[in-house]
Amino acid sequence: MTPQERKVARQTGKIISSVRKSKGLTQGSIAVQLAVSQSALSKIEHGLLIPSVHQWFEFCKFTGVPVDSHLQGYVDYSRPVVKSTHTQEGAFRLPKTYAVERASTARTMLPLIKWLERNEGEKKAEAVLTEMGMDSDYFIQLDHTIGVQFGLDLIAYLQRRGIYSPEGAQSIFKAVKQRGYHGSLWTGYDQTQEPFELMALLLSRASYYEANFDYVVEAQTKKHLDFSSKPGSHFKEIKTLANHDARFTICSHRRGYFEHMAESSIAQNVVVEEVECAFKGAKKCVFRMRMEAS
Ligand SMILES: [Zn+2]
Repeated sequence: MTPQERKVARQTGKIISSVRKSKGLTQGSIAVQLAVSQSALSKIEHGLLIPSVHQWFEFCKFTGVPVDSHLQGYVDYSRPVVKSTHTQEGAFRLPKTYAVERASTARTMLPLIKWLERNEGEKKAEAVLTEMGMDSDYFIQLDHTIGVQFGLDLIAYLQRRGIYSPEGAQSIFKAVKQRGYHGSLWTGYDQTQEPFELMALLLSRASYYEANFDYVVEAQTKKHLDFSSKPGSHFKEIKTLANHDARFTICSHRRGYFEHMAESSIAQNVVVEEVECAFKGAKKCVFRMRMEAS
């Protein structure tokens, strides 16, 4: 296999195993459907064998997976978040702490997971997720949900390893303006150049990313855009969040995400400030986006 083929094989295999697990299917039943042996399917799932075009189409037909998923490396049905507290998603099992108010999608966790992969390598990243009780295949489906605590624990891990510092947090989001971080929601982000317009578009799609906050555009002038986010009541239930630092981490991360998303060729210097924070006594978090003359 050429490196390119290896990449496609790995992506295809991960998708097949991820979808199989979330549907609670056995390798045997998928193998029958694709008319291959179970050992061949196992090789396909591990990226050692590329399924034929016919087999891939059969798989997509059988499971409802979009056919171009193998090129992207993820599966995206683009469904708004449906909050859940189940510890089970098909054959995927989630630790209890990460099943509390599952309202963040894999889509929102991707910047952290990719950051982990970039810094630790794919193998080690997978081991870290396994140690946290998570199957890395779970994050191949962008609509899968997980509790906020997962992100906080991942940040804590990165911090312990010296890979992450609050000051360096910004660099995690440098890459967010890429298709892979948004899946099929990417449409529009690549065409909108005006930062405020882009931010409004992102906010209007917030429910496809997470359902932890209610976002509202509060005011817009030529110079700035104000928008607020009200945290859901479940934030009180998340134990580690009694630690104030953790809550501030969530807000500073969102700030970084917004800032890099709104960057565009017509305005390189987009600045987002959190002018009020719900975790510091205000009714809601209020962010102000403005453009600095470069
Ligand atoms: Zn806040």
